[in-house]
Amino acid sequence: MRYEGIVYRPPSEAYSLIVQVTIGCSQNTCAFCSMYKDKKFRVRDVKDVIEDFAIARATYSSVSKIFLADGDALICNMDDLKIILEYIQEHFPECKQVTCYGSPKSILKKTQEELNILKMLGLSMVYTGLESGNAKVLKDMEKTASPEDMIQGADKIHKAGIRLSVTAISGLGGRDMWQEHAIDTGKVLSKMKPEYIGLLTLMVEPEVLLEQRIKEGRFQVLNPYDILVETKLMLLHMDCQGSIFRSNHASNYVNLSGTLNRDKNKMIEELDQAIQGNIHLKSEWMRAL
Ligand code: SF4
Repeated sequence: MRYEGIVYRPPSEAYSLIVQVTIGCSQNTCAFCSMYKDKKFRVRDVKDVIEDFAIARATYSSVSKIFLADGDALICNMDDLKIILEYIQEHFPECKQVTCYGSPKSILKKTQEELNILKMLGLSMVYTGLESGNAKVLKDMEKTASPEDMIQGADKIHKAGIRLSVTAISGLGGRDMWQEHAIDTGKVLSKMKPEYIGLLTLMVEPEVLLEQRIKEGRFQVLNPYDILVETKLMLLHMDCQGSIFRSNHASNYVNLSGTLNRDKNKMIEELDQAIQGNIHLKSEWMRAL
């Protein structure tokens, strides 16, 4: 397959066919993110995208899942998305799931009817990054969307019948805003009611904006104990009946997974055990993004 630069995908897309329909991230502003800093965002020519799918078809006899990369494939115009999804329907009839990243802005830019059409053409799930449910934290992190945008976007995705997977980041409020971050993230997720919630833990990579703020003393990273306390507070404010919750990313200190709200108390008990020192935390050197 032909890929431009490093290709990122959600952990659950590890075995998917990945085709880049955009290069980079349409926002590329978030203070904590290093993912697409080396790429200037652009939408690929749809002819090149279809050529990649043709190469994949000639290479793989069976493709059950397809992920449209890079960041924010949902920003593509409807004509391009229709061509891509119709090609998949025709040439990959065995494919059971087509997914992509979608920024809140891209979701909101699509009309309800357009999202309904994308669902009809096979778009099964959209991954979006909430990161924090607190407006100040989002602003500080230069995320160009508000909690209200996230809730409104989630509503449109649900109405279209497309599944929604949302990520949030433990520790993103730092020492000053940890409580607000935890409580508001729990509350906003409760309104978004995604099918899947993925909780990562903040890791500050070299040369992101946040690194400079840390050096200048303007942001204090939470220690592992504080992260556990914060995660507990977040879970306590989450009312997401039926959402599958996972905090088992390589960046997390403790792995949690369960179905909300059924397993909420079980996960809180696990956190309590970890807070009391009865569960071994992942060592720093083993953490990764
Ligand atoms: S966190 Fe997401 S939206 Fe923000 S810069 Fe990174 S990829 Fe783009």
